[in-house]
Amino acid sequence: ILSFDNVNKGFGTGLSRAEVLRGISLDVQEGEFVAILGFSGSGKSTLMNLIAGLEFPDSGTVTFKGAPITGPGPERGLVFQSYSLMPWLTVMGNVMLAIDAANPRLSKKEKQKKALHYIAMVGLSHAATRRPAELSGGMRQRVSVARALALNPEMLLLDEPLSALDALTRANLADEILEIWERDRKTCILITNDVDEAILLADRIVPLNPDGTLGEAIPVTLPRPRDRSEMNHDEGFKAL
Ligand code: ATP
Ligand code: MG
Repeated sequence: ILSFDNVNKGFGTGLSRAEVLRGISLDVQEGEFVAILGFSGSGKSTLMNLIAGLEFPDSGTVTFKGAPITGPGPERGLVFQSYSLMPWLTVMGNVMLAIDAANPRLSKKEKQKKALHYIAMVGLSHAATRRPAELSGGMRQRVSVARALALNPEMLLLDEPLSALDALTRANLADEILEIWERDRKTCILITNDVDEAILLADRIVPLNPDGTLGEAIPVTLPRPRDRSEMNHDEGFKAL
């Protein structure tokens, strides 16, 4: 469904030029859950922005269903590292933006019903009328997930959706993401610097090296469903 073919991407010119991604080639199959695992600054968000259509390669191609990506689109739902919710809108308002974009012809009532459905899916029904400033970090991240799902995208892109959260909130949201994936089997790309998180969620882990090249993919062989409470970490690391 998604394909990188020998992609290079850098920023700046002359002496301030920095190559970030080098010779990236990657194929993601429909319904697959892939984790891109890399240290801070290795170029993970840059990679995600290429998939999102917010940045473009210097050379090489990024294609979605065989066609080069030319910009953002509702078939690719994004959960940003920094949430990027509209601060002046309520939870409902933020999710409604996505519903509007994906279903412009529905009546207002039908749109609201859909929005409430996605808000309930991430456990925020009680907070639908609050604004982002009145939410905790974990709740904001949930809104961000609901907003991405509300686009009914073919592919979900998650840029470190859990990294700003405390351990308990992180475990809960990880379980929710896994549940959502198990229900819909939507193609998911998770960007993370957390090995445990990658093992828990993904079918395949692709390391992004500090020099901007991709390492060899590591299949995760643990059976699904992977219940965190029953997860055997030793087995997970053996897979690595
Ligand atoms: P983190 O884990 O901290 O989010 P990351 O792996 O997502 O890091 P990127 O945000 O992709 O890393 O950044 C990779 C490198 O590219 C960094 O050195 C950063 O300074 C540089 N970079 C990213 N975007 C730009 C930009 N728009 N202009 C200039 N440099 C940039
Ligand atoms: Mg990043």
